[in-house]
Order: sequence, then structure tokens, then C-alpha cells
Amino acid sequence: MYPAAFEYHAPGSVKEALDLLGKYKDDAKLLAGGHSLLPAMKLRLARPAHVVDMRKIPGLAGIKEDGGTLVIGAMTTHWQIESSPVVKAKCAVLAQAAAMIGDPMVRNVGTIGGSLAHADPAADYPAVVIACGAEIVTEGAKGKRTIKIDDFFKGLMTTAVGPDEIVTEVRVPALAAGAGAAYLKFPHPASRFAVVGVAAVLTMDGGKVGKASIGITGAGTRAVRAKGVEAGLAGKALDAATIQAAADKAADGVDVQADLQGSVEYKQHLLRVFARRAIEAASKR
Ligand SMILES: Cc1cc2nc3c(=O)[nH]c(=O)nc-3n(C[C@H](O)[C@H](O)[C@H](O)COP(=O)(O)OP(=O)(O)OC[C@H]3O[C@@H](n4cnc5c(N)ncnc54)[C@H](O)[C@@H]3O)c2cc1C
Repeated sequence: MYPAAFEYHAPGSVKEALDLLGKYKDDAKLLAGGHSLLPAMKLRLARPAHVVDMRKIPGLAGIKEDGGTLVIGAMTTHWQIESSPVVKAKCAVLAQAAAMIGDPMVRNVGTIGGSLAHADPAADYPAVVIACGAEIVTEGAKGKRTIKIDDFFKGLMTTAVGPDEIVTEVRVPALAAGAGAAYLKFPHPASRFAVVGVAAVLTMDGGKVGKASIGITGAGTRAVRAKGVEAGLAGKALDAATIQAAADKAADGVDVQADLQGSVEYKQHLLRVFARRAIEAASKR
């Protein structure tokens, strides 16, 4: 189906884009890679009268390291993240997750800022950025804000980003020396979206887990931190019984939704299985 008619804007700066958002308010939608927005417009689930394309704004794409933090421009594509030497060196789990998104066409066009702002409950990055403790930088009429990832995902396709704000950067701390990390998902066979996905970052301290950071996507309405699993690992040696007991808490606090992919019980089971596998994989890296 064709989208409803809209006016197309191609601003040359973040300020021009913000001015357009301020002028057209709820009638405007930002366009990044278009791989979530355009399908929604074609299905008439979204009918913006004004589309504000960010692809001509310089400086919104690219990856650099700033004092131990990866600074990733919002318009950086999944492919750029997947293939980035600095991401592979400093936070390989993010590159690995990017490589698991959709297919090559999706990865060549879709962006990290678009994915996080869209907050699809089955998207891959959210679990990883939660586990890595990322921050999201936005710009709006009132200036810049830095949002901690634990305050970012608010509900079904809802984030802390205001309607008059643009995500400009994703700041991901480099993994600590000696940390192990893994992201595993049970992919939908057609789209590759995560039916469930679990990211684990483990920092070891003298043979025990110093810090465990676990992000979960896919099963509920929004990505969450698996606090029960984290508490079950912290301060403990990683034997099979400890890992299993911690992974058994993976569905706690997740508002697991039944849908065409499975029942609540099935997804809770998948969460526990993928939490165990992600912890095991992270412990070996
Ligand atoms: C066939 C297919 C398979 C896919 N499989 C997967 C998968 O396996 N895993 C996965 O995670 N994703 C998957 N996706 C989604 C894909 O990753 C999208 O690229 C992503 O969700 C949206 O990014 P985008 O750059 O295309 O954003 P767009 O579609 O351009 O925008 C999405 C939404 O975010 C808003 N937005 C975009 N950028 C910003 C910004 N900088 N600031 C504020 N708001 C912004 C837009 O206004 C819009 O509402 C798939 C998509 C397709 C079509």
C-alpha cells in the first residue's frame, strides 16, 4: 500500500530539523533509515503530514572513542556498527548484536538512533545498550539532555525522548578489561526480530562475579534490566548451579506478552534458557 500524502523536508542542520518539529508538532515525524517508519506509513499505522528527513544533516553519523566511551552518532547504520574496528575492539557485543539485525539491506539503511527511538519491543539493541550501561544524548529546543539507559525505555514503543527532541548520540562505555559479554536471541524466522533476546555483561573480580549487567528484549512491551538475574550472579563464582538459579529469574519483572510467536509460558521459558546461554557465553569471553 502507498503511504498517505505528506510534505517532505530535508533540513541541513539539527537546528533546522528542530525548528520543523516545533512548527509542525504532532503532524511531523523524523525519518532516519525509514525501515520502521516507512512500513508503518504504508500500513497507515502512521500518517505524518510532514516527514523530516535527517539524512542530509552533517555530523549525525559516525563512531569515535572519547575517553573510554564509544560515541556513536544517531544516524550510524547497523552495518557501520557491525563492521567498525573500534566497536569490535572496545565493545564487541554491540557489533555482534548489530550483525544479527534483519538482513543486509536492513543493516545498510537502518540506524541505531532510529532503532532506539522507535523502541520496538522485539529490537536487538535495547538489550545490549541496557547491559552495557549506555546513555542517549538528545537535542531539543531547550538544549541537550543525556538520558541514562535505565530511564530511557518507558513502554510499548515509548521512550523518554520528547516529541520536540532528536536523538543525536548513543554513548556506550567500553567494556572493562577482563569483562565478558554476549547477546543471544531466538529470532523470528521471517524478520529476524527477537522473539526473546538476552544480553549479558559480566565483570569478574578474583574468580567471582564483580558486576553482572543483564538486558532483556523481545518478551514484553519494552526492554528491561533483569535485576533478579543480576542479583543472583553478583559476588558468586560462576558454577552451573549458580548460573541456572540466576537465569531462572529472567522472567521476573518482565511483562511477558502472548502473541502469534508464543504463549506467556513459552516466552518465559525462552527467557530462562537464553539468559542461561548468554551468561555461559559471556563467562567464556
Ligand atoms: C524486514 C525488516 C527486518 C528487521 N529486523 C530487525 C531485527 O532483526 N532486529 C532489530 O532490532 N530491528 C529489525 N528491523 C528494524 C530495523 O532495525 C530499523 O532500522 C529500526 O528499527 C529503525 O531504524 P531506522 O533508522 O530505519 O528508523 P526510522 O524507520 O527512520 O524511524 C523509526 C522511528 O524513530 C524515529 N526516529 C528515527 N531517528 C530518530 C532520532 N534520531 N531521534 C528521534 N526519533 C527518531 C522516527 O521518527 C520513527 O518514529 C527490521 C526492519 C525490517 C524492515
